[in-house]
Amino acid sequence: SYFQPQFVSDTAAVRVRFGPGVSREVGAEIDRLGKTRALILSTPHQASQALLLAEDVGARSAGIFSKAAMHTPVKVTEEALAHARDVGADCLVAIGGGSTTGLGKAIAYRTDLPQIVIPTTYAGSEATPILGQTEKGRKTTLTDPRVQPEVILYDAERIVSLPVSMTVTSALNAIAHAAEGLYAQNRNPLTTALAVEGMRAFASALPRVKDDPADLDARGETLYGAWLCGAVLGQVGMALHHKLCHTLGGSFDLPHAETHAVVLPHAIGFNQTAVPDLLAPVTEVFGGTSPGAALHDFANRMGAPLKLADLGFEETDIDRAAEIATQSAYWNPAPIDKTGIRNLLVAAFHGRSPG
Ligand code: NAD
Repeated sequence: SYFQPQFVSDTAAVRVRFGPGVSREVGAEIDRLGKTRALILSTPHQASQALLLAEDVGARSAGIFSKAAMHTPVKVTEEALAHARDVGADCLVAIGGGSTTGLGKAIAYRTDLPQIVIPTTYAGSEATPILGQTEKGRKTTLTDPRVQPEVILYDAERIVSLPVSMTVTSALNAIAHAAEGLYAQNRNPLTTALAVEGMRAFASALPRVKDDPADLDARGETLYGAWLCGAVLGQVGMALHHKLCHTLGGSFDLPHAETHAVVLPHAIGFNQTAVPDLLAPVTEVFGGTSPGAALHDFANRMGAPLKLADLGFEETDIDRAAEIATQSAYWNPAPIDKTGIRNLLVAAFHGRSPG
């Protein structure tokens, strides 16, 4: 049982539609919101998907803005805002991963326009009221109810195009929300149940997606896992793993999902002796001798990158990364000190199992 004697549960009112083909109903969802002019958002890479979506939306499309970029640069947001005003947009439709969802959230934060999101990765941003933005090379994060998308359309047909390597790293990014959610100080029985079920969905379906990336049943189950893991991220605080990935992504320009994939077994391994009972579900779900080793073996079986060395991180950066990562204090199950983080980074650099 995940029962706790005392807890607080805060959940957002979000409409979720789930199923293959469901994103073609986006026009009906715009009508349901009482809106008539949707601005469609994507990255340049997914501009053709945005175009197809605009066809589905028909006369309700006010235009397309296809310049979403990693880490939500404020400059791009300002350009998108001007575009939204020019075309008289009254709602937003984001099709893509965390970068595109982030742009929609950044516009909504400034305008309170309602958002419909069609996720095409497992990052889970659509299920959170959190917005990360970058300005002048600095990434800051805020939480605000205006940022939470109102409607999510989880459509497995939209995620089959995600390449296998990104599929695997994005899945580990999602699993990271669940794993850290297990020991969050403000966890509750609902978030723990979501976390365990989210990890279970990935453990079951990711190997099948890897074998056949077009398998809609398996893709659907991974998307279901992404929703649950994202919902955990949206409801509880994160610790060492997410802070470390934030440092590595922000200060060393490492790729988001890959960094999560490499660091996860090590961050969980770092915390496993402090909270063995809370992390026990990780071992139960993925199978292994310890939570960290279980995640390392799973990542290895899925063909994920295992070494920071392979992501363009230099060995000579380890000391500086440990320094930055321990500069500001935050809560974590195991006490954080520079030597411990340095050892963690050395193991992650070489891709050793955390044991
Ligand atoms: P992404 O959105 O940056 O996508 C990476 C690349 O893959 C892009 O070029 C994209 O167009 C492409 N792509 C995405 N889906 C595809 C598909 N199905 N087929 C083909 N190509 C596809 O990557 P991401 O990992 O989803 O998002 C990372 C960003 O999201 C980071 O900036 C991260 O900080 C943010 N994020 C925020 C939250 C939050 O709650 N605020 C949560 C998770 C991630």
